[in-house]
Amino acid sequence: MAGVQDRTAVVTGASRGIGRAIALQLAKGGASVVINYHASAQAAEELAAQISAAGGKVLPFKADVSQLAEAEGLIKAAVDHFGKIDILVNNAGVTRDMLIMMMKEEDWDVVINTNLKSAWNCSKAATRAMMRKRYGRIVNITSVVGIAGQAGQSNYAASKAGLIGLTKSLAREVASRSITVNAVAPGFITTDMTATVSPDMLEELKKRIPLERWGTVEDIAHAVTFLASEEASYITGQVLSVDGGLIMG
Ligand code: NAP
Repeated sequence: MAGVQDRTAVVTGASRGIGRAIALQLAKGGASVVINYHASAQAAEELAAQISAAGGKVLPFKADVSQLAEAEGLIKAAVDHFGKIDILVNNAGVTRDMLIMMMKEEDWDVVINTNLKSAWNCSKAATRAMMRKRYGRIVNITSVVGIAGQAGQSNYAASKAGLIGLTKSLAREVASRSITVNAVAPGFITTDMTATVSPDMLEELKKRIPLERWGTVEDIAHAVTFLASEEASYITGQVLSVDGGLIMG
């Protein structure tokens, strides 16, 4: 099984949470991994050291992927350092939750730029290199909220729904070059992003999940690693929900 062996992967927002688990899983599968981070330099360096110690090839790289020039710099660094880019995981994301009447314009802009424009930025830069090699795997991390919506998250839901449109459109654009583009839609996953949810709300939300538990970062990483593998070559333009059955349809 080829999996992700000897592939080069860029994971955005890999310093913490889901991105960190994806980077670890890809490295375990034999991929060289570029760990993108923005603010959490120490966490990224620690992850890089952990992967290196296990014999993996890794490059931590600071870039604000909401900025096109920095996203281009990230992809260029991957190609310069490892000679190619085969896998791009657009994972970086933030929330700025508020009811729309109280939400500031800046909260809309930051969330759309960090969650959606970043994926466009990185994909634009990476597809050029992937097209030349006639091989590529792009996996976008969307959300159950991008499918179903959520009160107080108009900015976040719009960014995640936008990612689904981007996934399907890009999948059609690059399919002839053997590049696949898919999305993974996590449900409720225990990370820093969801750390502010109160214990009462945790229990309340759990009742809505058929598998009766919150997801782990590894649950998401396994799905992403599969979609990023050689074996997933006939899957493109899909949105894979990894949510314990929260959304079925
Ligand atoms: P998290 O623990 O808050 O981590 C967010 C990551 O994004 C961090 O590594 C952060 O890096 C990075 N990041 C933020 N802004 C960035 C920027 N401008 N440029 C580069 N990196 C940036 O969040 P998470 O829960 O792991 O979420 C990861 C992804 O899964 C997000 O897209 C999120 O929307 C999605 N998701 C999460 C859940 C959930 O329940 N947790 C559910 C559905 C979808 P620094 O710290 O270095 O800035």
